[in-house]
Amino acid sequence: MTTLRHRVVELRLRHTFRLSRGASDTRRNLLIELEDGGLVGLGEAAPIARYAQDADSAARAAETMAPQLGDPSRFDGLAARAAVAGQSAAEAAVDMALYDLLGKRLGAPLWSILGLDPRRAAKTSFTIGIDTPEAVVAKVAEASEFEVLKVKLGGPDDRAMLQAIRDSTTQRLRVDINEGWTGLDTDQAAARVEWLAGLGVEMLEQPFPAGEIEATRALRRRTRLPIFADESVHRAAELPRLAGAFDGVNIKLMKCGGIGEALRMIAAGRALGLKLMLGCMVETSLAITAAAQIAPLVDEADLDGALLISNDPYRGAIFRGGEIALPDGPGLGVEARPAEDVLL
Ligand code: MG
Repeated sequence: MTTLRHRVVELRLRHTFRLSRGASDTRRNLLIELEDGGLVGLGEAAPIARYAQDADSAARAAETMAPQLGDPSRFDGLAARAAVAGQSAAEAAVDMALYDLLGKRLGAPLWSILGLDPRRAAKTSFTIGIDTPEAVVAKVAEASEFEVLKVKLGGPDDRAMLQAIRDSTTQRLRVDINEGWTGLDTDQAAARVEWLAGLGVEMLEQPFPAGEIEATRALRRRTRLPIFADESVHRAAELPRLAGAFDGVNIKLMKCGGIGEALRMIAAGRALGLKLMLGCMVETSLAITAAAQIAPLVDEADLDGALLISNDPYRGAIFRGGEIALPDGPGLGVEARPAEDVLL
């Protein structure tokens, strides 16, 4: 019988995090432990507010799922079958705990069990949230070690903000619009993409609202800048309808329900010729390291979630200049951070 323990952790953001939908200083994530046969698998849910998830709904979902798990050694599809509708983050927490248990049972890191070369892990970009031109320039200066910056757009002052960033750095730039170009027609959107291209921006993510696949297809015909889907895609079954409208997709454990489904998305995305990015929410090193385990399978990584918080309770994958060093420990290779290491 698998035993579940869980607690809510309040994560403090280093900077107020603004994107087109709103702003926040803290996040409440759910940490879980699944104990089976003397081993403990760790999991984390970073609930997605856009889908009406929060830490309390994730906790209830995990409690509903735990008694249905049965034999965790037969983990394939287990979290998906036990999942509560609409609670993808809780599903991801249970799924990653099952993969952690697998690795601990076999005494090997997950990347090794999957036959992956950790040196092939894609480098991660670093996110710059929406802010005043002065504030973003300060944030960019703090992020000078990263090769690639992902700038959130969709605020009132996008032009001044992005121009200020461009004027202050030669780092590679990507932009994430988070559906912010609501109501723009193809001509207007194409003109904005031209402006982005002129600043050397190399790709854009989710310009239009999630359901506006055809608008994105029309925009894609007018620009050479690659367009990635984030809010428009959750699971593997949705990928075929995105092919041709988007160049790539942003896969997140919290959206898709965990590592098992992320692996299916990677396989399906490859078959459809889509570029693959592995992204994250604001997450501790636990969920970030879970995603990083499969980073050797994707083209781009955007796994900076744990770098955005000041009280990370775990340590796992290490980031230096965007390079991801995967841990050697069994399973996810994540350990509780000694209390004295927690930056307060
Ligand atoms: Mg995004």
